[in-house]
Amino acid sequence: MKYSFCGRSGLQLPAISLGLWHNFGFVDDFDTAEQMILYAFEQGITHFDLANNYGPPPGSAETNFGKILKKNLASHRDEMIISSKAGHLMWPGPYGDGSSRKYLMASIDQSLQRTGLEYFDIFYSHRYDPHTPVEETMQALVDIVHQGKALYVGISKYPPMQAIEAMTYLKEHDVLCLIFQDRYNMFQREPEKEILNIANKFGAGFIAFSPLAQGILTDKYLNGIPEHSRAADPTGFLRREQVTDQLIEKVKKLNEIATQRGQTMAEMALAWILRDERVTSVIIGARNVNQIKDNLKALDNLSFTQEELEHIDSILN
Ligand code: NDP
Repeated sequence: MKYSFCGRSGLQLPAISLGLWHNFGFVDDFDTAEQMILYAFEQGITHFDLANNYGPPPGSAETNFGKILKKNLASHRDEMIISSKAGHLMWPGPYGDGSSRKYLMASIDQSLQRTGLEYFDIFYSHRYDPHTPVEETMQALVDIVHQGKALYVGISKYPPMQAIEAMTYLKEHDVLCLIFQDRYNMFQREPEKEILNIANKFGAGFIAFSPLAQGILTDKYLNGIPEHSRAADPTGFLRREQVTDQLIEKVKKLNEIATQRGQTMAEMALAWILRDERVTSVIIGARNVNQIKDNLKALDNLSFTQEELEHIDSILN
């Protein structure tokens, strides 16, 4: 595994982290979930990314992760970086959604209870909530650190202006924003416009979620939608209609470049994100150990020639 310092902090993260958004809920196979966590950790994937609502049902990914941890990895807690978040709908009524102090404070306690952890390494505000002042959300994060419930804090999916406000508030209150988490992949390049620079300026790291565009940036959909895929799964967040012919035509062309580089499509898609030094890590999702195995091979070739990058841009634009 390759580890990099997260922004200007002293914390190193693995280039590839594992996310538990899909495939770790009560609806999924527990043994497979356990095998994936253990395999990932053996390979040096020290960072596991959770959120209160991951499942389904919401909360069940944290419960399952807690069980796996207790059974197999309890003595390795200090070798792991475990994150969770609050910001999306979790429980009914006005206090289980958004980014109020009330929600974040209650949610982190619930997440700690479900996972059986004493603290999270990183706790995130999962999204900017236009109905809550940024100062209120950030003060809750500051207090969470002071209470010892998280070692570091981060923000996810904040628009550029609110990201600056949030990072400034945290800095003024002596709790630096460790990391910014955003969607970034070959098809979704929004962070290149402002967010990567903002994170870098504030000394925060950047971690990319959905680096494979939920599986579209692999060879999985080249010949239609297979039965065992997120797009075919009724509980998956990827809808069939998002796998468009137009995108698949692009993936076919990208796949030719990957083959020339001696990589699979997934490997090249991950390497492409990690080409930017401002990116600390990519959070992959996986349905089995083999996918993790394939994705780890991305690390064997992270460099691109200028010609390759231009060819990729010409396909994407
Ligand atoms: P990816 O883009 O990596 O998609 C993962 C999916 O791609 C897998 O479940 C699998 O789908 C497919 N896949 C992975 N590897 C391969 C491979 N080698 N070959 C073929 N198919 C492959 O990431 P996710 O969208 O799952 O997001 C990753 C993590 O990011 C989440 O778990 C979560 O921790 C975080 N996240 C954070 C968000 C936020 O708001 N902050 C939002 C979304 C995600 P299949 O099931 O079809 O096999």
